[in-house]
Order: sequence, then structure tokens, then C-alpha cells
Amino acid sequence: MEGSISSSSTVAVASPSALDRNLKSLLSSDERDFLITPTGTQVKVEELHGMTVGLYFAANWYFQCQNFTPVLASVYEQLKQRDANFEIVFISCDEDQSSFDKYHATMPWLAIPFSDLKTKKSLNDMFQVEGIPCLIILDQHAHTVQTEAVELIYRYGVWAFPFTKERVVELESEEKAKHESQTLENLISIDGRDFVIGHDNEQVPISSLVGKTVGLYFSAQWCPPCVKFTPRLVSIYDTHKQNNEDFEIVFVSCDRDEAGFLECFKPMPWLALPFGDERIKGLSRYFNIQGIPALVIIGPNGKTVTREGRNLINLHMEKAYPFTQDHILFLQKEMDEEAKSFPRSSHHSGHHHMLNLVSAASGGGPFICCECDEQGSGWAYQCIDCGYEVHPKCIREAGKESSSPKNKDRVRDDPFCTCSSGGA
Ligand SMILES: [Zn+2]
Ligand SMILES: [Zn+2]
Repeated sequence: MEGSISSSSTVAVASPSALDRNLKSLLSSDERDFLITPTGTQVKVEELHGMTVGLYFAANWYFQCQNFTPVLASVYEQLKQRDANFEIVFISCDEDQSSFDKYHATMPWLAIPFSDLKTKKSLNDMFQVEGIPCLIILDQHAHTVQTEAVELIYRYGVWAFPFTKERVVELESEEKAKHESQTLENLISIDGRDFVIGHDNEQVPISSLVGKTVGLYFSAQWCPPCVKFTPRLVSIYDTHKQNNEDFEIVFVSCDRDEAGFLECFKPMPWLALPFGDERIKGLSRYFNIQGIPALVIIGPNGKTVTREGRNLINLHMEKAYPFTQDHILFLQKEMDEEAKSFPRSSHHSGHHHMLNLVSAASGGGPFICCECDEQGSGWAYQCIDCGYEVHPKCIREAGKESSSPKNKDRVRDDPFCTCSSGGA
């Protein structure tokens, strides 16, 4: 059987050289056989021969690129320190030479000169780049091995190298094993750091949290949706503490400086990881936190109950506790029951069309509520033409205070901030 293909005269087998797309044809042009460093020094394309090469499509004017470039730069520096056979080539989507120069100056790698529009366009077309930032990985034979490297870098940092499918399978199975053997202690205690802190900076041992439902609250003072969500979480926390529930929350700060951390922590009646603690990056990556605020719930057995704590609270408020799947299913059934009495359509003061009641099964789905700017799923009031959706509870609450000018001509806020500590 093995020899059947090669022995058949009707099957054309591509020769190795035809398969061997080369870097030179990709990255140089008739007039140019070099790339440039951030200071303008020329580096011959052939010097990249035999390397794993990342083609980085990005632009300085887009915030997703602004967020990702420093994360990628940190991974790049770490790989260079390990002598990894790796290089990155920036393919600019900037608008002019001076924005390109400024942006390239923030990157420790090579670029195709801004003036070579033709090569940039042909690479864009060849790799069908539809959104930026985009990082395409070519192996040492210049074959594409990965088109989703941005996601992998955010998720696994330097461990994603060399970005092949085999590496991803390996990482996923390692991750699965880690999650399966997860306990609160092996999750939060690393290298002898086996404590969190209270408001007087006192150390609280992780062991004292074992057996409780623990929320890991990823948040930051500079993030408006976090500032808005924290009071809601405080009220829910207080309610359950008053009921003597075994519930604790640990603030995992994505703040950029200690002053921000202190200000953010001040109104929180719970514990925290110290500012800048190295465990924060590890936890962000482990739970793949890409937007904040985020609330991960760990059950009394130390296993992850859900990473959707924030959405569950927005949907069910204090009833969401203890966040288990069975409990949430029960709440959903209860809500389906309750929804039978909701009016089929309703007005909302923020919108000029009538809104219709929909469920996940009847044209609804995950949405951002135009009243409270939080995520929703399941039941909603919707104007399908305008993509306008509101939580049923927000319609009711808005109805109570409909004289308030708050809802007039509202612009929806971005419900997430990017947690830039996630990648590096
Ligand atoms: Zn809402
Ligand atoms: Zn409408």
C-alpha cells in the first residue's frame, strides 16, 4: 500500500524545491534584498535563512496593536536570550513614513521598508490578513505553520515557541493536566510565596482559604468598567459574608503602578495579591484573561468553577453564588419561567424603536446591554435592525426611573479593558 502513490504514473508529486517557498521571494523585491532594523541598518534577507520567522502585520493607530506590540517584544527578547533561532519582520499598515518610523522604533526586530508598498500588499494578499494585529509564523522552510500566533502569545507567552500545531497540542494537554490537578494551593502558592495580603499589608496564608469558594478578581484602577463593577461585587460579597458563607475574594491587580493598586484596593473588603507579584502574570495567562474586569471562581475543592463570574453576576446578581453549573442551570430555568410573564415587547428610553423579547433560542444570544454596558446572554429586549439590546432587568429598572435623563442618546461604552499583563 505504501508504494501505491509513487508507483502510479497518474499522480503528480510536487518536487521538494517547488514546495520550498523561500524567504527571499517573500520578503525582498527586484530592487531590494534587505530588511531594516529600527535604526535603519540594512540586514540581508538571506540572513534569516533557516530561521523560524514571524510576519507581524500591525499599525500604530490601532489600540489592539498598541497593546500587543510590547507583549510580543517581551516574548521576542526572552527568545533571543535563549538563543532561539527566531526573527520577526514588521509589515506596516501605518499611514505614513513618520508614523512607521515612530512605531518601528518601539520594536526590537526587522521591518520591510515603508516605501515598499508592493511587497507589503502582496504579503497581505498572500496571507489573507483580515485583521490586525496579525502574526504569521513561517518555519525554517518558509512554510506557514501558524496564523493565530497573536492569540498563542497572549495565551502562552514565550512557551508558545515554535508555534507549530504539535507545540499547541502539547501546550493544551499540559494545560489540561494542570487544570485537572489544580488545587487552591498549587494555583496561588509559587516558590514559597504562599500568602495573600489584607489591607494592613498583613500576610494571610493561602491555606486559610482552602475549602472556601474563592473569587479571583482581575481588575485595575485605570479601567472604567472595573471601577463600575467593583461596587456591585462589594455588595454581593457583603451579602454572602453576612450569611456566613465560606466565600472569599482575592484582588488580582492589573494596575500599572502601586498608587493605582492602592486606590483600587481601598474600597474592596477582601484580600489581594501584592502589587506587581509575579504570580499575577501566571494567573492571567493560566486563565487566559484577555479583558478586565474578570472574575474567576474557584470551588471549595480547588477546581475552577467558572471564568464567567462577572457575567453571571450581571445576569443574576447575588443569586449567582456559588456559581456552580447546576446552580446556574437552575437560575436559567427560573428565569425562563419568570420570562413567561414579561411583556413580548417594550420601549426603552434610550431607543426610538419598539424592542422585542428574545431568548437564546429565539434569535437572542450573547450581547452587550445598552443600559448597563455589561454583557448578557439568554433573555433580552432587542431591536434587531439596530442591534440594540437590553437586559430585561435593566428595562424594568430604567422604567422605574424613566424621568432620569441618564438614558437619553447614550453611547455604549467599551465593556472591556485589555489586561496587558496577560502575555509576557
Ligand atoms: Zn443591563
Ligand atoms: Zn432600532
